[in-house]
Amino acid sequence: MSEAAAAVQPIDPSAIQEMIEALAHFGAWGETGVSRLVYTPEWEAAQDRVAAWCAEAGLEVERDAVGNVWGWLRGSEPGRAIVTGSHIDTQKPGGRFDGALGVVAGLAAVRAVRERHGTPRRTLCEEEASRFARTNFWGSRAATGMIAPTEADRMRASDGPTMAEIMRDVGLDPERIPDAARDDLGAFVELHIEQGPLLEAAGLAVGIVETITGYRQYWLELRGSANHAGTTPMDLRRDPMAGAAEIVSGVIDTAQRMGRPAVTTVGRMTVEPNGRAVVPERVGFTVDARHPDPAALATLLARHEGRWTEVAERRGLGLSVRVDSDRPPRPCDPDLVETLAASAAEAGLPAMRMTSGAVHDAMQFATVCPVAMLFVRSRGGVSHSPEEYTSPEDAAAGVEILARALARLAT
Ligand SMILES: [Zn+2]
Repeated sequence: MSEAAAAVQPIDPSAIQEMIEALAHFGAWGETGVSRLVYTPEWEAAQDRVAAWCAEAGLEVERDAVGNVWGWLRGSEPGRAIVTGSHIDTQKPGGRFDGALGVVAGLAAVRAVRERHGTPRRTLCEEEASRFARTNFWGSRAATGMIAPTEADRMRASDGPTMAEIMRDVGLDPERIPDAARDDLGAFVELHIEQGPLLEAAGLAVGIVETITGYRQYWLELRGSANHAGTTPMDLRRDPMAGAAEIVSGVIDTAQRMGRPAVTTVGRMTVEPNGRAVVPERVGFTVDARHPDPAALATLLARHEGRWTEVAERRGLGLSVRVDSDRPPRPCDPDLVETLAASAAEAGLPAMRMTSGAVHDAMQFATVCPVAMLFVRSRGGVSHSPEEYTSPEDAAAGVEILARALARLAT
């Protein structure tokens, strides 16, 4: 070990914990939960806190046209920035760690790089791009220029204001959304809680993501004939519930037989007229199917689509299928993955290679620059819930790897 390496101050777990707890006050929900939706007063307060921390750390603070916070540590050489960060908005309610840990970790890592190495050669940046808006990834899609000009006017909660109105309420101008698009991003590395059980099962604090899963989300509607549940013989029915039951069990079974990491979920269903003694007229439901391998994803989707076409035809049911979102798998940049692996080895922290079954901001940034992700163990694999928990020691292990990786890239 060189003298410089021997002098490295380890990342302090209690400092990470204090920042997580400080953010958890904004939108606190019960004992351990947080409910902090984008553009609410609690979100603004949390943004202000992050901006203040960045300023205290000597970073140059920028807030862009959609409210993303960027904290810049200018390098001694020109060129695109190495960026780290995540989101501070939450599910309703969510926990303290989803997103927030990546923001806190990014700040701690950038600070550590400067303490250990002084001014970096390349510019480093810590960013916050809130994502759980009415459509996903609002902040990172704005930063990568992927929000359509009319989107803020079209997006609306069922009976609420439009995104444009919500933005105006917090002093942002929706006309300026295109100004948030950047061309100065050279790489994006996101630290995030795993939100799954694999690290815990492996007894490891940290994982390195090789691929972020691809997925397609459908809304299916089956139409038959509503009729009396007592007087209509089984052989004379066109029952969309019978078709839905076959399709639902079929797609779930298909993913199960394909094996890990294939996953298919039916999470929402509506029935009309929704009566106890009525054969339904319509049954609608979601299908969410994911796989990180492009060929396997295509196979999974083809089997699902074949299944519902066959069932609807055989049962004489009307079928309509809408694709609500469709994203191919995004491999992380191989060089960045190796940088993270080398940093973990250097820090003496074992880290497993894994795929991400959840989608993340990094997936959006992958359209404009190389990306990579670090996962930190989630207790019980729980996330998007007040129960989510990551220990300060595990978080500090992730920050240590992130700081070393940023140093390798920027100094
Ligand atoms: Zn998240």
